[in-house]
Amino acid sequence: MDYKKKFPIFSNIESHYLDTAATAQKPKVVLDKVVEYYENDNGNPGRGSHALSIKAEELLTDARKTVQKFINAKKTEEIIFTKSTTESINLIAYSYGLDYINEGDEIILGISNHHANIVPWQFIAKKKKAKLKYVYLDDNDQFDLNDFKYKMSDKTKIVAVSAVVNVTGVIQPIKEIIEIAHKWNALVVVDAAQSVLHFKHDVQELDADFLVFSGHKIFAPMGIGVMYGKEEILNKMSPFLYGGDMIEFVTEQDSTFAQLPNKFEGGTQNVGGAVGLQEAINFLEEIGYEKINEVEARLYEKAMKEMNKLGFIETYSDENVEKTGVIAFNVKGVHSHDVSFILDSYDVAIRSGHHCAQPLMSYLDVPSCCRVSFSIYNDEKDVDKLIEGLKKVGEIFLSKDKSEN
Ligand code: PMP
Repeated sequence: MDYKKKFPIFSNIESHYLDTAATAQKPKVVLDKVVEYYENDNGNPGRGSHALSIKAEELLTDARKTVQKFINAKKTEEIIFTKSTTESINLIAYSYGLDYINEGDEIILGISNHHANIVPWQFIAKKKKAKLKYVYLDDNDQFDLNDFKYKMSDKTKIVAVSAVVNVTGVIQPIKEIIEIAHKWNALVVVDAAQSVLHFKHDVQELDADFLVFSGHKIFAPMGIGVMYGKEEILNKMSPFLYGGDMIEFVTEQDSTFAQLPNKFEGGTQNVGGAVGLQEAINFLEEIGYEKINEVEARLYEKAMKEMNKLGFIETYSDENVEKTGVIAFNVKGVHSHDVSFILDSYDVAIRSGHHCAQPLMSYLDVPSCCRVSFSIYNDEKDVDKLIEGLKKVGEIFLSKDKSEN
């Protein structure tokens, strides 16, 4: 099956797109669904009693059911639409953190967390005089469960971790993390931004308290994200955004708030985005995780083999740990942005820099690196072009160095 054909961007432009971990390209079925919504069904959900408003509300509810099934939440009320993973984590930090984290409490973060799962907690820690603690990495560059056990205590109120590390693609032991945290009555925030494209998340089986992800990383449009929370926890949290349909009654001086999920969806919801996310989930499930991971693993193996042959690439991909199709690497002695710039002239798109994970980069003592990430629409030609571009990087930078020495 030529999955590339399902993604119009690859017919419209020349691109060897190896940056899916930043954002996935969109299949035609998703794009068509969003256009269909705006061409036929657009209305403000829940605001009016006319047909289009009612239709938009129905579509939103239907999309919510698809997300509920996707992560096996108990109820649709536990699915809150946000604009992104970042907004979802901010929602939890503000709404839970401001009310329930107090002076002397502790928040535990993985050192591999994305900034989106660090900075909101820094804000809460400063505001509430709580303490931030980090769990470092074991020999396989994975979240160190022994370090974690050592740092947990009855002061720990929140544990926030990524299910998959965005820089390296390392899969984290989420189930064990949740089990350990719950022994201490701490709540766990699972950042699934990098993992929902790679394996099933069953929030009931995991017993996750919160789980968040962005639509744009799983073939959906930008501007739609998900915040899952257990109903009993969401019910005791304050709203995050005030105004719009999250109210019950408003008087001049006071307001009461709507039930879940509206309580957390202030303002007009992104129905087009939700419809697109629903279609993206259907698309993903139709292909299946097995196929996605098979394509990624095949291309990963080929790329690793050929990159290693070049002799001037340093990879940060530990072979002893379960990973997604991500290769973090540097061309020895060359800045990652220079590598990315030259690859771009070969129409090869990769990510370079600190990957919004500066604490991890400092911990590993790697100021910046390149990241290749594969998905279902990539093929061997993309890897060949990557290698061709990397050879050019070698020619430009490394042979010049030799002549200067
Ligand atoms: N967490 C992780 C692990 C990520 O990879 C990203 C995106 N790079 C985010 C959070 C933030 O996602 P968004 O920008 O969609 O809010």
